[in-house]
Amino acid sequence: MTFKPMLAVDFHERLLRFPYYASPKVDGIRAVIIDGEARTRSMKRIPNFHVREFFEKNANLLANLDGEQLANPNRLRFTSGKRRKMWNRNCVALGLAAGFLEPLESTSIHLVQSAAIRLVRLFPDGHSDQATIDEFNRQCDFEWERIRDFIVLHYWANQRDGAFWEYCRTMELPATLQRKIDLWMANGRVFREDDELFSEESWIQVLLGQGLVPKGYDPLVAIKSNAQIEQYLGNIAATIDRCLDVMPTHAEYVSKYCAAEPVG
Ligand SMILES: Cc1cc2nc3c(=O)[nH]c(=O)nc-3n(C[C@H](O)[C@H](O)[C@H](O)COP(=O)(O)OP(=O)(O)OC[C@H]3O[C@@H](n4cnc5c(N)ncnc54)[C@H](O)[C@@H]3O)c2cc1C
Repeated sequence: MTFKPMLAVDFHERLLRFPYYASPKVDGIRAVIIDGEARTRSMKRIPNFHVREFFEKNANLLANLDGEQLANPNRLRFTSGKRRKMWNRNCVALGLAAGFLEPLESTSIHLVQSAAIRLVRLFPDGHSDQATIDEFNRQCDFEWERIRDFIVLHYWANQRDGAFWEYCRTMELPATLQRKIDLWMANGRVFREDDELFSEESWIQVLLGQGLVPKGYDPLVAIKSNAQIEQYLGNIAATIDRCLDVMPTHAEYVSKYCAAEPVG
């Protein structure tokens, strides 16, 4: 839908007629973005060079706004990766000092905590023996690489258009991830290894959710008849329904426990 930028007017609730659009007046000029260009109230291009450059540079981000822009885009740049040795000699890297994977699954804070616990469990005495250091680094590498596999799966199993997504679909996968995908595709089986962060449920959610349906199923399923399986799944559905019956809706919960003050 195309509409012109509106002028700010005084708010009189009794004059409002539904449906209407309203937004708070923020400092600056009002404009709408059409085909990546900022237009004034009379639909002319905003002539100011700096304004035009801002919208050109941020065209992709701004094109996806579904309301008024209330703040400028904040671009965060990062280099993915981890240190080859998180503990080297008498120096241990934790948190961002150890590395950064990416924001999709938000694993950074977990990695800070698990490394801190790992350090306590392998706390050195005055000598910092190499076996302890190696074990710390081995556990860190395992944890980081399994999280990397889980994140790579999101990108590899995409069904999006564009050169970037095409590249992701055809990129070479880490052997540990390929093994997991092959096993899943064969019989729908996933195993959580050692202390890896993501559980079977998380893997299944991404694998199935991104369209990877296994060719076969776990033969153990055949022990049960279709009627027994239907009954089992029916019991789960009935339990969920019973819980829903006694739980408030989201709107009811918000209005009872944390209702916002009316604006005005
Ligand atoms: C917008 C945003 C959202 C995020 N969301 C999530 C999330 O949902 N889940 C998640 O797990 N992670 C999230 N992260 C990542 C996570 O917050 C960080 O990875 C984590 O806080 C890093 O902790 P850190 O202690 O390593 O580094 P920091 O928190 O950056 O701490 C480093 C500290 O060192 C100080 N410092 C820097 N240089 C010096 C110096 N020379 N001398 C003295 N002090 C110095 C800094 O001031 C800072 O206080 C998010 C990050 C951002 C930016």
